Parts: sequence; C-alpha cells; structure tokens
Amino acid sequence: MEPRRILVVEDEKDIRDLVCYHLDRAGFAADPLGRGDEVIGRVKTRRPELILLDLMLPGLDGRELCRLLRENPDTATIPIIMLTARGEEEDVIHGLDLGADDYVTKPFSPKLLLSRIRAVLRRVPAMISGEEEILRIRALTIDPGRHEVRVDGERVELTLTEFKILHLLAKRPGWVYSRYRIVDAVRGEDYPVTDRSVDVQIVGLRKKLGGSGKEIETVRGVGYRVRAL
Ligand code: CA
Repeated sequence: MEPRRILVVEDEKDIRDLVCYHLDRAGFAADPLGRGDEVIGRVKTRRPELILLDLMLPGLDGRELCRLLRENPDTATIPIIMLTARGEEEDVIHGLDLGADDYVTKPFSPKLLLSRIRAVLRRVPAMISGEEEILRIRALTIDPGRHEVRVDGERVELTLTEFKILHLLAKRPGWVYSRYRIVDAVRGEDYPVTDRSVDVQIVGLRKKLGGSGKEIETVRGVGYRVRAL
C-alpha cells in the first residue's frame, strides 16, 4: 500500500523538518512546503490525503488558503489541520469557520500531532457518507429522512432549528463547530438564528434530549461538538 501523503506547509524550517521526520517515521509520506502561494499548485500535482497548514506563511496565509481549498470542489474534502501559535484563539475560530477540521497549538509534541492526524483521517469516511443516513450516537438516534430523534427509543419532539443543529453536530462526532458555523448551517428557516441564540438553542436541545443531553459538549472559547464515538 502507498503511504498516505501529508502536505506539511510550514515556513519555519526547524518545525517543518521535525514534523516531516516524525511523519515519515510513522509511515506517512511527508511532502514539505515552505510557502503559502505554492500550496494550490502542489495539491493539484501531488494530491495529499491531509494538509497540515501553518497560519502565518509567506506568499499566502493559512486562512486564505483554507478558504480557497474549501471553495474548490476538487479540494473541498481534503482534511486540513491548522498549526497555530499560542494566543491565536481568534485565528483558530476563524480557521474552523473557514473549514479547517482541527487545529494544533505550537509548540506541540510529535505524538500529539500524530494522534490528531490519525483521528482526522479516521473521520473522513463519515464525512463523505450520505446526509440521509440514520445516525446513532449511543442512546441517541437521528433519522434525517423522517426528521425524527429518539433517545433510548423514545421519540423526542424538536423544533426545526434544534433538529438542524443536532444533525449538523452529530454528522461528525468529535468535530468542533463554532457558533458562527452553526448559524451559517441552520440560518433562517423558522426564525433568524444568531450567535447568541445558538447558545439558547443548545440549552433547550440538551434539556429535551434528557440523558443524551450530555452528548453535546461545549468547547470553551470555540463552540460545540457531539461527543466522539
Ligand atoms: Ca509561520
């Protein structure tokens, strides 16, 4: 089997070399790159299975790259993990809004980075599978076709907005969604959803889900996720 190619976009040579060394040792094929403006071309010629993307890069920064990669249907599904410096929380949130799948704060241990990479790669099939599939998260069942939610087999009545938020989060257990991204996904059906009202919706949702309410976790300073399977 071909080793899984990982594009490492990082302008600090020491970090880039270190990351590539550990990736190669772990059985991946690391593809190093030091400039942001060479990413799109590289992805076209040598498609990676995952991209490690530094935020501050010469040529084109990580945010802009994330947006460009997500906009293009050819590259929209390639998982992206952002590499950020401490104290760049705003950038992290922005990165997640732009479609990054996860982020790792520098300095990081190679072990942590590898475990994040493996976790993101494991989730990829779930991302590609159909929207209408019935989702099971422990005691919780979500049937998008019927717009039906059950906890331990008992039907739970949700509003359309609550259903959409739950469905969005449950499609990718373990993935963090910022409030902004939630708003963006469920916007404007029964009433205008705002940043703040997402919090209110989540409170209501947890209450209605009873014992399964704990499946929705708050990620401080970032947003919400459904507990990983
Ligand atoms: Ca940098």
